[in-house]
Amino acid sequence: MANGPASSHASDGLILSHFGVAVEVLFGSGQRSMVRVKRNSGHVVGDRVRVAGEVLERLPRTTELRRRDARGAIHLVAANLDVLGIVVAPMSPAGFVDRAIVAARAAGLRPFLVFNKCDLVQAMSLAEALGGVYAEVLPCFVLSAVSGAGLEALREFFHDGHRGAFVGSTGVGKSSLLNALCPDIDLKVAEVSDHKWLGKHTTTVSTLHALPSGGELVDTPGFRDFGLVDISSQQVAAFFPGFEPLQEHGCRFSNCRHRQEPGCAVGELVAAGEISAERYETYLGMLTEVEVAEEAALRRSWKK
Ligand code: GDP
Ligand code: ZN
Repeated sequence: MANGPASSHASDGLILSHFGVAVEVLFGSGQRSMVRVKRNSGHVVGDRVRVAGEVLERLPRTTELRRRDARGAIHLVAANLDVLGIVVAPMSPAGFVDRAIVAARAAGLRPFLVFNKCDLVQAMSLAEALGGVYAEVLPCFVLSAVSGAGLEALREFFHDGHRGAFVGSTGVGKSSLLNALCPDIDLKVAEVSDHKWLGKHTTTVSTLHALPSGGELVDTPGFRDFGLVDISSQQVAAFFPGFEPLQEHGCRFSNCRHRQEPGCAVGELVAAGEISAERYETYLGMLTEVEVAEEAALRRSWKK
């Protein structure tokens, strides 16, 4: 592996991999180097950095993607992503898609949907059913990571220069999809994991992969069992998929929850049939669920 840039001048780069004690940086020149960092430095994959000798300075971020682990702790996963791929397959939990869309938009990422396993009949019917709800509001890809059908459209989407990650419950095929899009993914990770600072059996925290056909994908092993951070009721009201017309014709109150408030644009769109009664019911269910969770969290904080 090449040495870092000379300490006399600073070079800007991008963090490609994070190993806890070191990060791999790709510099503008195309050179890749390992740079040591403190264990809890807070740097993540996708961070733009300025490196002078051993000193690494983080540049401002455009977006931050976070997850919640099984114990409830929140972790930053990646910085400066612009898209988030929400992967679904038969048996995906209900409500996940809407939550993930709200969370992506709240973090400033553009969500898109991937209907995987479309070599299976059940998956095709799921794609048809959900496509009716989402196809008008965000990019949707119907594909099979195993057969390769439909992958080309997703490659073309990334080719436009997007940097993203996949989320979805265990078993929907996120790893299979990554492998299909970046065929030499395991090889590359193994190569850098051999670095002298890292000791044996280092596991990568996360890695940014350049796709052969353009664009970039972040692979975060811990993120594959996805727990998005909690969404707020305010975010549900602002970002629920299907409520996009609100961006232009807003409600009278900027903090409208779209229940019975006067001058509510959602109420009008439901009455006019532009938002289906079913989607509106789904929205109310999610809003109430999130509000109940928020109130419970508030009560817990009072007791402390
Ligand atoms: P992850 O937990 O989301 O990373 O899912 P995996 O990529 O590990 O896939 C889970 C299972 O689904 C594996 O047995 C895969 O072989 C299978 N799988 C993934 N993609 C497809 C697909 O497009 N079609 C079919 N039939 N099976 C798939
Ligand atoms: Zn409203």
